[in-house]
Amino acid sequence: MALILNRRGFLAGSSAMIALHPFSVRAQGNQAHLRIMETTDIHVHVYPYDYYADKQIDTVGLARTASLIEDIRAEATNSVLFDNGDFLQGNPMGDYIAYERGMPEGAMHPVIEAMNSLGFDASTLGNHEFNYGLEFLMNSVSGAAFPIVSANVATKTGETITEDETLVPPYTILEREITDGAGETHQIKIGVIGFVPPQIMNWDRKHLEGKVEPRDIVRAAEAYVPKMKEEGAQIIVALAHSGIGPVEHTEGMENAAIPLAGVEGIDVVLTGHSHLVFPGPDYEGHEGVDVEAGTIGGKPGVMAGFWGSHMGLVDLMLERDGEGWRVASSEVEARPIYERGEDRSITPLVESFEPVLESVAEEHQETLDYVRRAVGKTDAPLHSYFALVADDPSVQIVSNAQRWYIEQMLAGTEHEGLPILSAAAPFKAGGRGGPEYYTDVPEGDVAIKNVADLYLYPNTVRAVRVTGAEVKNWLERSAGMFNQVEPGQEDQVLLNDAFPSYNFDVIDGVTYEIDLSEPAMFDREGAVVNPDTNRIKNLQFEGQPIDPEQEFIIATNNYRATGGGSFPGADGSTIVFEAPDTNRDVIVRYIVEQGTISPSADANWHFTPMDGTTVLFDTGPAAANYLNDVRGVQIAPAGDGPEGFARFVIRL
Ligand code: MN
Ligand code: MG
Repeated sequence: MALILNRRGFLAGSSAMIALHPFSVRAQGNQAHLRIMETTDIHVHVYPYDYYADKQIDTVGLARTASLIEDIRAEATNSVLFDNGDFLQGNPMGDYIAYERGMPEGAMHPVIEAMNSLGFDASTLGNHEFNYGLEFLMNSVSGAAFPIVSANVATKTGETITEDETLVPPYTILEREITDGAGETHQIKIGVIGFVPPQIMNWDRKHLEGKVEPRDIVRAAEAYVPKMKEEGAQIIVALAHSGIGPVEHTEGMENAAIPLAGVEGIDVVLTGHSHLVFPGPDYEGHEGVDVEAGTIGGKPGVMAGFWGSHMGLVDLMLERDGEGWRVASSEVEARPIYERGEDRSITPLVESFEPVLESVAEEHQETLDYVRRAVGKTDAPLHSYFALVADDPSVQIVSNAQRWYIEQMLAGTEHEGLPILSAAAPFKAGGRGGPEYYTDVPEGDVAIKNVADLYLYPNTVRAVRVTGAEVKNWLERSAGMFNQVEPGQEDQVLLNDAFPSYNFDVIDGVTYEIDLSEPAMFDREGAVVNPDTNRIKNLQFEGQPIDPEQEFIIATNNYRATGGGSFPGADGSTIVFEAPDTNRDVIVRYIVEQGTISPSADANWHFTPMDGTTVLFDTGPAAANYLNDVRGVQIAPAGDGPEGFARFVIRL
């Protein structure tokens, strides 16, 4: 790819003034600048669009990342473009293709169509490529105009790793022409090898059991890289759909980027999977990486965020070395498509690249139709008007879906057979969001965009393993939602305004009462202020008082499981399962598989009765429509609340 440069090193004829990268300016006759571009974890985000919220957004979209590509290519004498996997699943466009339109042989997957329009040089498979089964995967990737490689997914294992039959080719050797600093062109052989976390076997067991067998990432690299060298690869790039984790290699590790970089012969490690950014503050202080130098285990490496948020750049200054090339120096950058201001405002840094939008315009429109129409039915209304005072259908459905999912995921593991509880909190529950800020989906049709209403955040599912004592204290922490109530007094204010509703976890699978006459055990931040209090009464499992020693699984989300809200038993150390799937995806899958859902709350918790005592509770005025459905609490209208809220009185 020859470029016409003027004497200052700027591109002639380009609409914008584009500064050449210093490596391109500086390269001598025996040197060449090679720029490696990475996208990763696109998750079908082609359009800058949030299909759940049904609105345009500036933080996602390959169409946005793509508009960086032209400039980025123009800044470098030589460049290649790779994708690091997780392209087929992760938003409603992906679900639309998988659940509705289908992916028969010969059909084209829109994300592949979009990638084809950009001239990718190669890609690898991410773990999410396996979510819809192998046939879907193979039919999708067969439309790719670029090689897709993965070295550690065997369809038939051989005696040694290199004798495996693999699902897709383990590696490819790209033959490219590069231009050196003197303007001479040379052939270069760039070896590209791909890896996926072997955990695909746990995450997609139902699709993969008996069909594929994953290998350890580092072992696969050690086996194949010498072979690539023998076949003439001069530079080797690892497309590692794997995160930056521990320095030490352990067999079967999920986040293997650092030990992988240590495999002799690998020159560059492109990473992903964790949905973080490298280089950048996400990895400040992480052992084994250098955020300043942009190295992972001593080799240049990058992680380009997710959903198209960044373009990852690894710039290599190559030097002629006999017949081949070696990396003399490197620079690494993750270039964003938007900027977040201190006030959390979002400023786009690029516009969409039209050809990418056009390539999937039809599927975009079909996805819009899909999210707006029914995909299932609910035989009870889904609303959150009473989520803070009684067991509630909007929380119940989340809880049910999480439990359904975790049951499948823990089958066949050492945790199988432990009772599975599920914790969920109301997200849209009035408060500062105002009197309309509630979930309110009537009985009947459920559309995908309703799911966003049920689950606001792109959390991922987690399972923690805790004791009965921790279950109780988890609920004590939740019960900080309420003010202390004086028995025998009327019209006391129920809710503690400073306590966010997303920290009011209801735990399903146990039954309990909340005794408001006692003070809260924890303050707002989660510090113990009343160690001897006992708000949670009659906590029972299967009709018997809970055994404080007994072990339970709680299905929850990554925020809670890693210490969000400082819940007892949820400090990160109790996690036994980390799902790659978002809670939202799990709810969609649950609804699609069930057809009709029955979200009626099971009234597994209520307030402890208190003679002659009433409390006041403000909620959205539309709550009046559902007053007769509320179970486990005596509630009646009590006029208007402030700022458009409606007031209700609860007799305890
Ligand atoms: Mn991903
Ligand atoms: Mg319940």
